[in-house]
Amino acid sequence: MKKTPCDKIIKHPCIRPLAYDGFTVQALAVRAGRIVGVGTYRELRDMVGPNTEIIEPEGEILQPAFHDGHIHLNFLKSEHHVDLSKVQTAGQLQDKLSDLSPSESWLIGAQIAPRIAEKIFKDSPNLLYEACGTRLVLIRTLDGHGGWLSNEGAQWLQSHAQRPLTTLDIPSKGIVHITEGDYYQALEQIPGALNRSSLEGLEGRVASVISAGVSCFHEAMIDEIDVPLWESFFDRYPVERTGRMHGMLHAKAGDWDWIRKRKPVFAQYEGRLSLGCLKVFLDGSLGSGTAWMHGERPSHVIKEDEFLEVARFAASENFQLAVHAIGHRAVQTALDVFETVRPIVPTPYQSFTPPWRIEHAEFVTPEDIKRAARIGVIFSVQPLHLPMDTEILLNSHRDFVNIAFPWTDFIDAGVALVMGSDAPTTPCDPIKNLAVACGGMRRALLGIPEAPLALHALSRDVALHSHTVGGSIASMGKLGSATLLPGQPADFVILDGDPLRVAVEELEDIHPLETWIQGRRSSNQPEGFKHARTASC
Ligand SMILES: [Zn+2]
Repeated sequence: MKKTPCDKIIKHPCIRPLAYDGFTVQALAVRAGRIVGVGTYRELRDMVGPNTEIIEPEGEILQPAFHDGHIHLNFLKSEHHVDLSKVQTAGQLQDKLSDLSPSESWLIGAQIAPRIAEKIFKDSPNLLYEACGTRLVLIRTLDGHGGWLSNEGAQWLQSHAQRPLTTLDIPSKGIVHITEGDYYQALEQIPGALNRSSLEGLEGRVASVISAGVSCFHEAMIDEIDVPLWESFFDRYPVERTGRMHGMLHAKAGDWDWIRKRKPVFAQYEGRLSLGCLKVFLDGSLGSGTAWMHGERPSHVIKEDEFLEVARFAASENFQLAVHAIGHRAVQTALDVFETVRPIVPTPYQSFTPPWRIEHAEFVTPEDIKRAARIGVIFSVQPLHLPMDTEILLNSHRDFVNIAFPWTDFIDAGVALVMGSDAPTTPCDPIKNLAVACGGMRRALLGIPEAPLALHALSRDVALHSHTVGGSIASMGKLGSATLLPGQPADFVILDGDPLRVAVEELEDIHPLETWIQGRRSSNQPEGFKHARTASC
């Protein structure tokens, strides 16, 4: 019996329907953007009709596209910002800033590493004044949790602030450091500080995420004004340019009434946009010195009562809840509230109960790891934070090294993991994440470089699971299962190396060649990346 013809057959010697399992097939049949058959070409041949396209992409492995479980596309710098990402010294910063014409009212510098900025401004507190005179200057740090203002900039912010500022203390000529609540006010108030109003800008950022091999990204901070922008983005562009987004609505302390008017929505725009998750901040970042490591909660974050209120609202309205918690005290507090408000979910795999999640979970005590597993909480981790934070960890938080980045303990305890980038803080690059998660970096952090790697690094299958199916679980499966099995969206990536089989040291040399979303090619890497090796396996 002849079957209904499919639109496309993708032929490739090495197709992995599950990124984390060595099992392979040689052909996929795609109809209306979904997989309708998996097998050998011979097995699928009776689905070939007169209009079926046969496509044979090059590359080593074809596998499900990645999820980026935590990203900030609203936070990327705009082209009007001075790019400070390469600045290492006071001299370089001074050169970058003095070159600029004084035409615009505000001068915004972006992407400087927080530790470098701190060192430069500690040694040279008058640098902004010397480079820019009395201009209004904002320097945004790379981690999205703090910035620096010129004296005049700080005065401007003080007179334009809508809510009382808490950290602002203005010296006569020097530099002012702002974090968290004050920093977000600065971003909202200062003209040009955020570039969130352009669809084209958004499209460019999403395109770079897709070309990293990602089909589904979990946007970690959506404010009220961002919602119509994202909606028009998904309305205007086709799926191969939008990918799929699991968005977290920002329940900002004292300012989340707009969320009370909403209901969770999932897989809108033909399975591309979910806005069914709420996000609360319980601390800041390690680099800005605002992670909640010990003592009282940081002053800028949501208070206990209000956090409980958000959590109760999420539970009663069936929203997912995501809590930003880096320090172990923040993680502990998040779990306390989860336990109080919500019945235990025996496993986060129960899709009818939204699994709640902790974003970052960089420091977690053994007791809390067990607790998270028991009550069914997902940890959303970003391995590339480890190399970024190693120095500060060893210099300022040595007491906490044993409980830092304990990914293997999470897995051993049975906590579900999703991996992401936290871009732009670290690059959106799933393969580099795998290289860190599976490599020797945590072993080195613990000071035991000779210990068996398997005890201190994730295995390849677990890391690949976390970057694909883990993301699907964390987005409640609403945007596809991140597998290439019949019924699933045909979202896949072709890599020029095999992440399950190369040596750990070679993982980072693997590149995505093409990303396909819903059966359509959406990105091609530049020629230089193509090694044109096609393996048989
Ligand atoms: Zn984040």
